[in-house]
Amino acid sequence: MIVDVTKIEGPVMPVSFLAEAGQIALDMPNYRIAGPVSIGGEIERHIVSIEVRGKIGGKVTIDCTRCVRPVEQPLSIDFDVEYLTEGRLGSDGEHEIGSADLGTDELDGNTLDLTQLAREQILLNIPEQFLCREDCKGLCEKCGENRNLVDCICGQDDIDPRWAALKNLK
Ligand SMILES: [Zn+2]
Ligand SMILES: [Zn+2]
Repeated sequence: MIVDVTKIEGPVMPVSFLAEAGQIALDMPNYRIAGPVSIGGEIERHIVSIEVRGKIGGKVTIDCTRCVRPVEQPLSIDFDVEYLTEGRLGSDGEHEIGSADLGTDELDGNTLDLTQLAREQILLNIPEQFLCREDCKGLCEKCGENRNLVDCICGQDDIDPRWAALKNLK
């Protein structure tokens, strides 16, 4: 959803829309949008910036970091982002305050792409590690079986010294 910020009505304008999963292309192999993503909140106009705050909701499918099993998870992100409106930031380096200092982005023209905002927020909130369950046993490093499902016998063999060395590394 694209908002023309010159057409924001009143100091605060509510926004609410649903983006299809395909509109938010994350390009993450182990983290995928699993359904429509809702974005709801409001846009507040300040003198040199606009502030967008609200909530992103939906469902995602995340692959377990250990056993790569895909698990569906709810998506729920609170966000509060500020954008400097065009022309307020100098690109000539004369201005002392840059967008990076303020932790804000500059708007691209007069339009705010809320779908893009949602995508950025989702990417920012992807967990570094995700386990399908706290005690996920992961995949056997020898036979590749999912050790949550199969009790392979690899661990019972006399451990090959090369594997033992690898195990010590972990
Ligand atoms: Zn797992
Ligand atoms: Zn095994």
